[in-house]
Amino acid sequence: MMDVIINTSENYRLDRVESCLEKIFDDMGGIEKIIKPGMRVAIKPNLLMAKKPEDAATTHPSVVHAVVKLVQKAGGIAVIVESPGGPYNIPLLKMVYSKTGIEQVADETGAELNYDLRVEKLNNPDAEYLKSLKILKPLYDADLIINVAKLKTHRFMVYSGAVKNMFGSIAGLEKTDYHLRMSDQESFANCLIDIYLATKPRVNIIDGIIAMEGDGPSAGVPKYIGCIFASRDAFACDYAALNAIGVDYRKVPVMRIAEKRGIFNKDNINFLGVDLEIIKPDSFDVPALHDKKTGSRFAAIRFIRNKFRPQPEILHDKCVRCGKCVEVCPPKAATRDKDKQIVIDYKKCISCFCCHEFCPEKAIKIKRNTLRRFLEYRRFNS
Ligand code: SF4
Ligand code: SF4
Repeated sequence: MMDVIINTSENYRLDRVESCLEKIFDDMGGIEKIIKPGMRVAIKPNLLMAKKPEDAATTHPSVVHAVVKLVQKAGGIAVIVESPGGPYNIPLLKMVYSKTGIEQVADETGAELNYDLRVEKLNNPDAEYLKSLKILKPLYDADLIINVAKLKTHRFMVYSGAVKNMFGSIAGLEKTDYHLRMSDQESFANCLIDIYLATKPRVNIIDGIIAMEGDGPSAGVPKYIGCIFASRDAFACDYAALNAIGVDYRKVPVMRIAEKRGIFNKDNINFLGVDLEIIKPDSFDVPALHDKKTGSRFAAIRFIRNKFRPQPEILHDKCVRCGKCVEVCPPKAATRDKDKQIVIDYKKCISCFCCHEFCPEKAIKIKRNTLRRFLEYRRFNS
C-alpha cells in the first residue's frame, strides 16, 4: 500500500504551513528517516513563469520555505532547482526567482538557488518512450529530490500536479522539442510519466492551499482548497488531489496511462490525515474536460477530432507583442506578420497550448469549434 497524507492549512502564514508539513513528514515516519545529515536535497517547485505568488500559478514561497527549513533541520543541504518555461538562462532564472518570492526564501533560509545551466544524460530503463534523456545537472547530482508541485488545471493535459511538475527537469526550450515529438495527449502523457520515472523524487508534495481553476496552468483563477497533499508516490498524490477537486482520474491522460502501464493502482492507496470529503470545494472549474479527447487509433476518427479540436486565438486588444508565444511555439505556428502582429498558422498548430500557458497578458483564448460546442451543449442539456 502507498500512503498519501492530507493535511490542512487555512492560509500561507509561515508558522501554519510549517506545522502542516511537519505533521505530514511525521506521518511519513519522520524526515530523519528520509534525509541524512550532509545530503544534498534538490527541492523542485513549480516556477512556471515570473508570476506573483497570489496568482496561484507557481508553488507558494511559504510552502517552499517550510520544506527548506525541514530539510535543513534534518541536516540536509537545500538547493532550489527549476527550469521555467522559455529559454534556460541566468537573467530569466533571476527574474522568475524574484517575482515568485523564491529569492526571498533563499535569502531568509540560506538555501541555494540553482544557476548551474548544465544538463546530464540519464538512462531510463523503465521508460516507454524516453529510454534516455537529459535532465538539469543539479537534479542529477542531488542525493534526493523533493517535488513541490502546485495544484492547477491544465488546458492540454487537463490537470497539473506532482507527475507533471517534473517536466521542469528538462532544460528550457528543449521542452518545446518534447511537445513537438509527442504532440498528442497520449504520447505526451507517456513522456511526462517517463520523466517522472527517470527523476524519481523521494517525496512528492502538492500545494493545494490555493489552487488554480479555469484556464490553467497560468491564466486561471485562484481557488481556495486549504490543504497540502504528500506521498512518496506522485501518482497516488495526484489521485488524492484529483479526488479533492472532484475530477475522475480516468479523465486525466497521465493517470489513465499510468494505470494502463501498471504503475498506478488506485486500490493500493492508503489515505492518512484529513478526510477528503471535508476539504472538497463546492465546485472546481476544469475547462479541458470539455475539450478534445485523447488520440484515437482510427485514422478517420482522428481526422475528425483533429478538424474540430480547440485552438488558440490571439486577443489583439490584450496582446503587447512581447513575442513569448512565438518563442515557445514548438512547430513555429505562432509567428509575427509584417506589422509585428502575432498570427497563428492553424495548419501547423498542434494545439499544445504552450502559447496560452506562457502568455503573460492572458491574451490567448482557447476557442472551441462551433460544431463541438453544439455537441457539448446537446450532451450537457439532454
Ligand atoms: S505571449 Fe501573449 S502578449 Fe506576448 S505576443 Fe504572444 S499573445 Fe501577445
Ligand atoms: S500556436 Fe500555440 S497551441 Fe498552436 S502549436 Fe503553437 S504553441 Fe501550440
